[in-house]
Amino acid sequence: MEELYDVAVVGYGPVGQTLAILLGRCGWKVAVFEKQPAPYPMPRAVHLDHEVARILQGAGLGEELPRLTEPAHTYEWRNATGETLLLIGSKAASLSGWPESNMFSQPELERALDARVRALASVAVHRACEVVELRADGSQVELMIASPDGVRRELRSSWVVGCDGANSFVRQHLGTAVTDLGFFYDWLIVDVIPREPRAWDPINWQLCDPRRPTTLVSGGPGRRRWEFMCLPGESIAELNNEATAWRLLAPWGVTPDTAALERHTVYRFQARWTDRWRSGRLLLAGDAAHQMPPFAGQGMCAGIRDAANLAWKLDLVLKGLARDAILDTYPSERIPQVRQVIDFSIELGKVICVPDPAAAAERDAAMIAAARARGPSPPLPTPAIGPGLLLDDDPLAGHLFLQGEVRRGAVTGRFDDLVGSGFALVSSAGDPAAQLDADAAAFFGALGGVSAQIASSGPIVDERGSYREWFAAHQVAVVLQRPDFHLFGTAPAVEGANRLVRRLRSALAG
Ligand SMILES: Cc1cc2nc3c(=O)[nH]c(=O)nc-3n(C[C@H](O)[C@H](O)[C@H](O)COP(=O)(O)OP(=O)(O)OC[C@H]3O[C@@H](n4cnc5c(N)ncnc54)[C@H](O)[C@@H]3O)c2cc1C
Repeated sequence: MEELYDVAVVGYGPVGQTLAILLGRCGWKVAVFEKQPAPYPMPRAVHLDHEVARILQGAGLGEELPRLTEPAHTYEWRNATGETLLLIGSKAASLSGWPESNMFSQPELERALDARVRALASVAVHRACEVVELRADGSQVELMIASPDGVRRELRSSWVVGCDGANSFVRQHLGTAVTDLGFFYDWLIVDVIPREPRAWDPINWQLCDPRRPTTLVSGGPGRRRWEFMCLPGESIAELNNEATAWRLLAPWGVTPDTAALERHTVYRFQARWTDRWRSGRLLLAGDAAHQMPPFAGQGMCAGIRDAANLAWKLDLVLKGLARDAILDTYPSERIPQVRQVIDFSIELGKVICVPDPAAAAERDAAMIAAARARGPSPPLPTPAIGPGLLLDDDPLAGHLFLQGEVRRGAVTGRFDDLVGSGFALVSSAGDPAAQLDADAAAFFGALGGVSAQIASSGPIVDERGSYREWFAAHQVAVVLQRPDFHLFGTAPAVEGANRLVRRLRSALAG
């Protein structure tokens, strides 16, 4: 084990893996420490959204994602008699160039992420290594690592990111309190592999039956997921066994003859968050900073957004292109969005976690009428991030920007693959690079920024007209997109590109 790292990542779940890839791809010397000797095998996330798919594309998984995921176009909530309480319809084509909703198996995704991490020469993964002590001084952090055989080693890192899950060890060192919103329920989670292909319609739904609130969703290609709520008076021991799983699956035509039971376990769904994600050289990401009930399928997604927000900021600080104060914009941007997603997950949970028949009847009466009047709703649009490294007088700043299909020369594909990711100046009204004065061009070049003029006849061709539509709808001519695909800012004329880059330089200088 080498002595000094640029970034030490504590925890090798999907958030630690993604962060390690994003930093490793920039060439930083990253050490990952994971206390478990083997990957976590139990059922967890099954849904990821379009933005997370784009982040994973940026982490090198673009070609594998179609094999790992199954798009889901509906998510329906029904009462005990089959009436629709809520219908969420999502689109195959989204803002980010991926289906809005994608179903997958978390262990499969973690395997794919692990393969990307292992391919990076500058990232070292140390399993069966628990971080047991942290000491931060002004310029470095000392970490004490313990192996199961009792051997202890000490090493140093410039930055430490705790991606160490719900019981985070790193969080304890930030001196931060966890706010528990008091919404918790126990559920039995069961993943099965049907022996024969079977059409599941709807692909994803919630049975809001007070006799046994149940979730029935895709578990990714070739898999199905059932989740059964623990009823009042039922013990966890009673619920958490294979015989109970088969008994609860039987009414759905799922038996040992028709399916293999891949795994099952009981989880307590919780809604908790912490408001301090940085203390000097220590940072938090993923479940270490926030947990939410899974009804919106957003816990891991939020953690992967954390990794995407933090990685480029750490990269700029390590390169000396930004002051470390920009790391304070990581929590200021992420927390307001995470809070909204937690609240939304709780609201969905309140619809289904209702074991009382009278309360369920009241809910049904209110929701059926509203569902009829409204029809299918789109999925929750990702809320904008909070204030931070953004053009503060621009209402579009902090919102996600588009990834459309483009053609460059003879090749057609997604923008990030063909043009590049990182900071991007994009315009459909002219060449944004040609607007930069020498200083701004040199600064933007040092950032590794890319510039693209997208139009119906090139140089980069807007294959489906999505950029033309976006620019027209928002009445802007040029955007400056950050490496996490959020808009730093926009301008009404392509000449505004120079001001955008200058404002970015001021923001990075603090
Ligand atoms: C039933 C269920 C369904 C879910 N469904 C969804 C969904 O559909 N969509 C979604 O987005 N999310 C979902 N989630 C949430 C998602 O699974 C989690 O948010 C995600 O796994 C968190 O990833 P993480 O990397 O932050 O933490 P984890 O995956 O928990 O990884 C943390 C790692 O840190 C390690 N560690 C801890 N302490 C130390 C230490 N001191 N030293 C070294 N290593 C340490 C742990 O061993 C662990 O491997 C679901 C969760 C559950 C339980």
